[in-house]
Amino acid sequence: MSETHGYDVGSSPVLNKTGAPVDEQTLRRYKCVFCGLLLREACQMACGDRTCRVCLPQELFQCPVCQEKIDPTKPQQFFPDKSCQNDMKTFQVKCGCGWQGPLLDWEVRVQFACAQNMQ
Ligand SMILES: [Zn+2]
Ligand SMILES: [Zn+2]
Ligand SMILES: [Zn+2]
Repeated sequence: MSETHGYDVGSSPVLNKTGAPVDEQTLRRYKCVFCGLLLREACQMACGDRTCRVCLPQELFQCPVCQEKIDPTKPQQFFPDKSCQNDMKTFQVKCGCGWQGPLLDWEVRVQFACAQNMQ
């Protein structure tokens, strides 16, 4: 499991497009059932639970949330969750360094700029 999983924002708050923090209960819908992080390339499984594309097992498995059996080699067992992906495009993260920006820019930003700002 060395591939990148979900977006790990640590303890930084996630904000919606109005700048208000997204509450934990809402945020849970945007977390992967496997890695527990914010969904990357969100997919919905046949059971309705969500996973990152890279976290989806390659063969028959049981959903860790609802225990339903999913066979990803069969059609219609999972699909890209466009509405979830669109919601996540509007999410912002507020970093400890003071930077605030789109969740999807988060990792690039952290690697190249935040470390310097924090010093
Ligand atoms: Zn994941
Ligand atoms: Zn499930
Ligand atoms: Zn930062």
